[in-house]
Amino acid sequence: MSGAERYVYGFAEGGMEMRDLLGGKGANIAEMARLGPPIRVPAGFIVTTQACIAYLDRGELLPRVEEEIDQALAALEGEAGKRLGDPTDPLLVSVRSGARESMPGMMDTVLNLGLCDETAGGLAARPGAERFAWDSYRRYIQMFGDVVCGIDHDLFERAIRDLKSERGVTLDTELGSEDLRGLVAEFKRIFAEQTGEVLPQEPRVQLLRAVAAVFDSWNGDRAIEYRRLHGIPDDWGTAVTVQQMVFGNRGQSSGSGVAFSRDQITGAPGVSGDFLVDAQGEDVVSGTRDPEDLAEMAGVLPEAYDRLVEITTMLERHFRDMQDVEFTVEEGTLYMLQARSAKRPPHAAVRVAVDMVGEGLLEREEALAKLDASRLDALLHPSFDPEYVVEPVTVGVPASPGVAKGTIVFATEKAVDRAAQGEEVILVRPMTEAADVAGFNAAKGILTSEGGKASHAALVARGMGKPCVCGASALDIDLEKMVMQVNGKVLGEGDLIAIDGSSGVVTTQDVPLVDAEPDEYFEKVLEWSDELRRLGVRANADRPVDAEKARRFGAEGIGLCRTEHMFLGADRLAKMRAMIMAESEADRRAALAALEPLQRADFEGLFAVMAGRPVTIRLLDPPLHEFLPHAEDLVLEIERRLAVSGGEPSVDLERQLHRVRELEEANPMLGTRGCRLGLLFPEIYEVQVRAIVSAAAVMRRREGDAPELEIMIPLVDFAEELRAMRDLVERTAAQVAEELATNPVPFTVGTMIELPRACLIADRLARDAAFFSFGTNDLTQTALGFSRDDAEGRFLTEYLQRRIVDRSPFETIDREGVGELLTTAVERGRRSRPELGLGICGEHGGDPDSIAFFHEAGLDYVSCSPFRVPIARVAAAQAAIATS
Ligand code: PEP
Ligand code: MG
Repeated sequence: MSGAERYVYGFAEGGMEMRDLLGGKGANIAEMARLGPPIRVPAGFIVTTQACIAYLDRGELLPRVEEEIDQALAALEGEAGKRLGDPTDPLLVSVRSGARESMPGMMDTVLNLGLCDETAGGLAARPGAERFAWDSYRRYIQMFGDVVCGIDHDLFERAIRDLKSERGVTLDTELGSEDLRGLVAEFKRIFAEQTGEVLPQEPRVQLLRAVAAVFDSWNGDRAIEYRRLHGIPDDWGTAVTVQQMVFGNRGQSSGSGVAFSRDQITGAPGVSGDFLVDAQGEDVVSGTRDPEDLAEMAGVLPEAYDRLVEITTMLERHFRDMQDVEFTVEEGTLYMLQARSAKRPPHAAVRVAVDMVGEGLLEREEALAKLDASRLDALLHPSFDPEYVVEPVTVGVPASPGVAKGTIVFATEKAVDRAAQGEEVILVRPMTEAADVAGFNAAKGILTSEGGKASHAALVARGMGKPCVCGASALDIDLEKMVMQVNGKVLGEGDLIAIDGSSGVVTTQDVPLVDAEPDEYFEKVLEWSDELRRLGVRANADRPVDAEKARRFGAEGIGLCRTEHMFLGADRLAKMRAMIMAESEADRRAALAALEPLQRADFEGLFAVMAGRPVTIRLLDPPLHEFLPHAEDLVLEIERRLAVSGGEPSVDLERQLHRVRELEEANPMLGTRGCRLGLLFPEIYEVQVRAIVSAAAVMRRREGDAPELEIMIPLVDFAEELRAMRDLVERTAAQVAEELATNPVPFTVGTMIELPRACLIADRLARDAAFFSFGTNDLTQTALGFSRDDAEGRFLTEYLQRRIVDRSPFETIDREGVGELLTTAVERGRRSRPELGLGICGEHGGDPDSIAFFHEAGLDYVSCSPFRVPIARVAAAQAAIATS
């Protein structure tokens, strides 16, 4: 090919290293073919992702691609000993999509291609093949019609249903050859009616159109949605694998199934999977027939079963990852159709990682790198309270572990809408399909009445780490009326339901949930992570209970204590309001004096949990009006009282209203908050500092140990602000030490970095700051000029849909903008103070991708909510592994 780009590769020419070009499926099939016996792979070829990109650019296949397909087809025909379109013994092929990363069920497939009136007739004339021929042809018309011509799948299904009821049978398998032949004629009629053309009869034309249709499916709605959810770039394209068909629907010595090299649900050693005798692969995954457990295959097809176990295990060793394989047994001979890394629920992923290291299959760095850290929080999700007596309304197939509780919704759009309102929902469907992916994302859990562990619902739920119960056949779901009946109960949309994806239990009780603890495998992964990571991990915690949780999950300290939360309890708010309403400094000081002991007690609780560890406390940040009632509420109350008291105005309420209006700001996010408050009302910060250092002194005296105190000034823009606040802190602390007649408790003063200006003058700020803590929430708001609440509720969805951004910048750090500001601040800050401490305490501190960035940027630690601490530990290790 003289160095020119090639667009088509025979299986023998590819291998696992060619994933980008051949797609994951194509590359792995080629690799299996390369491995040779005992693995038997039906012959075929792969049209590359580059051919797809060129096709999507031009809107048609390149002539070169068509030529190469013809050549590859000729080679395939030679190898198979059959010809596409041969009227007596035709070659039939499957045409499947396969992107670089697997996107299960998101793109399209056409099976049994090569059938037309002539070849189907020829095939039907072969001994014992009549029913098989018509059944294959009707399946082909259905798939070609749906995938290539966009005909509503349901039109075909309806024709099958009508025919079955006419014949008085319930199963497809009860239809005879003549029935199926009649169905073929009906399907052709539907095809012609819907498309205005007769079903193409030239197999080469069928093939080229099918390849083009699979390329088009890369831009189908569900594929786009899947890519958005999984961060897969739009410009990868999909490859197409064309492979000789083998048939699992050739009687009792044939069958199809999927196998996993370890338990697909728990990750425990031992091959698992699903299997159906006398069936094609689509029957196993579509949920139209309930598959058998793979172990059943040992009794029915023992030789093929033993070989399958041997090959699956061998493939796991070869690919060095848990495998998910598809296979077909055709008249006793086992064929491998696909092998890929198995998507597994988070706790199985963790177990597999630990076991594989134990078995010497992987180094711990490799095993850790394979984990999807962002999914690990599912391991700490709650379970049903074991003390509570759960009364199931039914029990289905436990398909994806974890419990979920919420209100019933019967449609994906409903799930998305209700979840957007903050409601926790369970998506309930007879079975799910690719178009439901957005619903999976929105729902807490998934419940279906049909399908098994290999059904679409099960696979997607496991992939997303969502609890799922499948095949709960006692549920009688009526999608039109939006109700379901189960064992005499009638449940509608909005009713409560709870599912346990580990036991299959479904209940309508409001079962209390309890927090989970990491299991032994997760503990092991965390232990390795701690040994391998460089970044420290702290937690954002304001209350002792949160601090305790953070410690349990392995936080090394507190990276952000937001002190405003301490003013919000019922007993505090009144005092806080009195302070804000005060008309003189003396009144304000009196009100603050009442708050001080409460604050001190809070800090004592926090410090007791964190003795000897770093605790970073931020002085008050939000604008004062956040602690006051809303003006509209006050107006209403004033009017109500006036009506009751017959015209007597309430002086106190009038004063409050006046003060609320005085403090109201057009844009509080950019208003009188952060250190601006400290400058205007220094006595607030003074009281806070008094509470902090006196609590630390008490702890030191009582427990013999105080935390490593770090006092932090929020929302700094100017070096002068920081200097003034730092003086205030040091002066107040010295006074407290004098009053208590103790040695001053050691502490450092640092600043939040939350504004672009602060990043740019970081060298000057570092002269007065022992540490920086990046507040990436505000830094994102101020760098992008996005107010988070307005962006998330309004335009950000549009930005995501149009892929102006791939993920919300409030969820994962915007490297180009905010990231650049951060690295500038790190470099300038360290230049003027080499020992400057550097941390991050915005939401991004718990996001694995952002953590990788913070590692590269050279920060010392990340701080995140207690629940995300384990994720952050693993992600920090992964970042260290990736850069070592
Ligand atoms: C931040 O801005 O990132 C931060 C941690 O502060 P808050 O979220 O409290 O504004
Ligand atoms: Mg902030």
